[in-house]
Amino acid sequence: MLKVILISVAFVLCLAVLGPVQAQHTVQISRIDFTLVAEDYATLHEYAPKIDRMVKDITKRWLDEPIPRGMRQTTVHIYHRSYNKAYCTKDLNIFIYSNGDHLEATLKHELTHALLHIRYPDLPRWTHEGVATSWDGPGNQARYAHILNWSRKSGTYPRLAEIMKGVRFNARNTTAYAASNNLVKFLLSRSDRYTLFLYSTGKCTLERAYGYSSTYALQQAWITWLNAPCVAMRPSG
Ligand SMILES: [Zn+2]
Repeated sequence: MLKVILISVAFVLCLAVLGPVQAQHTVQISRIDFTLVAEDYATLHEYAPKIDRMVKDITKRWLDEPIPRGMRQTTVHIYHRSYNKAYCTKDLNIFIYSNGDHLEATLKHELTHALLHIRYPDLPRWTHEGVATSWDGPGNQARYAHILNWSRKSGTYPRLAEIMKGVRFNARNTTAYAASNNLVKFLLSRSDRYTLFLYSTGKCTLERAYGYSSTYALQQAWITWLNAPCVAMRPSG
């Protein structure tokens, strides 16, 4: 009896020192290139094949060739919650907390970050987001269009020099995402995706890639293009 009491006391003391034990039961599926972690098997079986398909889609649209198998391992965590939050770390851990709305679009956005981290380790934030947002769902695309329409009406535009330095990105700053999304579309209307990545990773100057002598010249050309509505406001996809 004394032994039971002592063990109980020790357990309570441990809880007091370490805090409550998190009830976190996870299951996972491991493939060569990714591990999917979730809290139930239904999520694993639903999303593992979807991840395979999404990686193929992203590769076809944005990469020059598939990343060799086994090069890097990405771990995708999907947790069903009452709120939405998602991010991808540079060491290729994707965390998605989702209430179910737009989960697939969010997953594709974050997988794009992971593949870009592998293929282009030095890619700046604006290119990352400009490319990843191309997969965003209609809700986000409408938000981006609304911001740029407001710019056209008011004549006040996001400053590309600030956005390209990456100083304005955070989850609540939709303008930085809208501008990046549209800037990537604009640059792709001027040249191909290889040029976009060459320029973005500093392997080619702005002048040589696109013929603009400065970021200011780029800003002016983007504004002119943005005011040609049928081209600039075309949704991604
Ligand atoms: Zn992103």
